[in-house]
Amino acid sequence: MNNADFIERDLRTIWHPCTQMKDHEWLPMIPIRRGEGVWLEDFDGKRYLDAISSWWVNLFGHANPRTNAAVKAQIDQLEHVIMAGFSHEPALKLSERLVQLTPNGLSRCFFADNGSSAVEVALKMSFHYWHNHGRNNKRRFITLSNSYHGETLGALAVGDVELYKQTYAPLLMDVITVPSPDCYTRAAGETCEEHSSRMFEHMEKTLSEHADEVCAVIVEPLVQCAGNMRMYHPIYLERLREACSRYQVHLIADEVATGFGRTGTLFACEQAGISPDFMCLSKGLTGGYLPLSVTMTSDEIYSAFYDDYQNLRAFLHSHSFTGNPLGCAAALATLDIFAEDNVIENNRSLARAMSDALTELNQHPQVAEVRQTGMIAAVELVADKTTRRAYPWQERRGLRVYQHALQRGVLLRPLGNVVYFMPPYVITEDQINFLAEVAREGIGLAVAD
Ligand SMILES: *Cc1c(COP(=O)(O)O)cnc(C)c1O
Repeated sequence: MNNADFIERDLRTIWHPCTQMKDHEWLPMIPIRRGEGVWLEDFDGKRYLDAISSWWVNLFGHANPRTNAAVKAQIDQLEHVIMAGFSHEPALKLSERLVQLTPNGLSRCFFADNGSSAVEVALKMSFHYWHNHGRNNKRRFITLSNSYHGETLGALAVGDVELYKQTYAPLLMDVITVPSPDCYTRAAGETCEEHSSRMFEHMEKTLSEHADEVCAVIVEPLVQCAGNMRMYHPIYLERLREACSRYQVHLIADEVATGFGRTGTLFACEQAGISPDFMCLSKGLTGGYLPLSVTMTSDEIYSAFYDDYQNLRAFLHSHSFTGNPLGCAAALATLDIFAEDNVIENNRSLARAMSDALTELNQHPQVAEVRQTGMIAAVELVADKTTRRAYPWQERRGLRVYQHALQRGVLLRPLGNVVYFMPPYVITEDQINFLAEVAREGIGLAVAD
């Protein structure tokens, strides 16, 4: 089968995610036959460098020999088992290691199978905790503007990306939205730290007014990824941790995208030296191999559910594929690679290479900002550099970068007018320079008229 044959059959049956299917009348989809390292290969034999880690999940390349071996070994042992009343070794080992690796106090692991579910679990657990303590008035959540926490209705409700949310607004629970500490919006002459710190005043005020009715604040630590890779300073998380404790409100850290080394530390929360009450992990958890997620929390929260059955305080939530052994085996292999290969340290030089490769774009007349946190680098395109007026979304400028990159053998998938790199950690410096060259060309074409 070649690309054309594949596409014809595909379009007859498959409804692709996050896609206006009519676009495929003129925008070819790319059927992938195999992957290896940073490369994906289509059915015509053309290769693409996966600069976005296949939607931010892949860490150590496609078909990584070590992860492959771990999954193959596990599949001959046990492919899946019910996790209620039963357990298995990969889940046990993974839980013990996650407790070791995550910030202090996160001592309990509740498994699910994707990031949105991990968020739903955190929201329900937080509400239920307060319920079990007789605090029945606590039933709302505070979220940041421009945040993203997934697509299921609860996760969508605590998110704030209009494109995904607006249509479903009538179905969503009411949340309290506080302005994001996003440093892109800082005043001239203000540092990122000053800006993020100043923006905390909104949160402080909201907590002081609403703490009695609020279960938790949910944030993406340091980088609002789906919200166009907007970044903020760790000072905000420090202040948020302190205030949440003071107001008796939980802090949910959604590290689904930022976890596992993306921001330069194993978890983004480390950069603020904080422990959240809940931490949601998925995406890179399995190295990008299999759908698995975990919501971690404290013994204190766990204890609020621990009681005689008749008292009906248990957390009666489950998913069919909760804690799937193959996913856990892939996750254990991923953690082994982190331990054996000194990944966080090596990523520092890769991050520097990304920064070096992109600095010159700062001078570009249609680039408002090049920003970076660890292994995430983003270039914000604007219609007017001085006023930072954005291009109208209808012009789909980012799409032109996407199309150019594909021609050049690169998978770059801008978010609106933001071109970003979020590559697997096995990328080389030469490949980073190649990415930057393709991005520069693409941006040139995208802003040409
Ligand atoms: C991707 C993402 C989610 C949702 O995860 P899915 O596995 O796609 O459901 C939740 N939170 C953040 C921060 C994400 O980036």
